[in-house]
Amino acid sequence: MILEYLDWRFEVDIEMTRKKTQENATDHCMCDYCRNFYETVDMAHPGLKEVLDEFGVCLMGPSELLPFEPTLVLACYRVQGKILKWGDATLLGGDVLLQPEAADEGSFYLWVGEMELPWVQDEAPEEVVSPANLPEFLERMQEVWQLRHGDAGIVS
Ligand SMILES: [Zn+2]
Repeated sequence: MILEYLDWRFEVDIEMTRKKTQENATDHCMCDYCRNFYETVDMAHPGLKEVLDEFGVCLMGPSELLPFEPTLVLACYRVQGKILKWGDATLLGGDVLLQPEAADEGSFYLWVGEMELPWVQDEAPEEVVSPANLPEFLERMQEVWQLRHGDAGIVS
């Protein structure tokens, strides 16, 4: 199916995208960082779910979550299809930035965020034990942050 957004054009296999992102949604990391995302994102960013749904993307099924801070999260979703025309226009889902990125043959990524979220877990965020606190993951988050923002405001 062809989707057109502003000056962008995509070819998307909606059914396959839905199937794969829904599979991701059944296999969540349930650390407090991730749980906080799943519990708050829909309420905190109205309109996002609807736009992702047009791609077949299940909001609850990201391939990757990057909590730069406990309440500042970037999510990456894999869409089955391809980018037919790269536009200049800024794509938004509600108030959230959507950035397409080419992936391997037959799919592309949608980077979604960063999204500010309320913190609704019992445990204080600085006490949370999460895979996102592991050195390899922190390094990956720093890399992505620098790609997106340069050296400004690096998250420690
Ligand atoms: Zn997690």
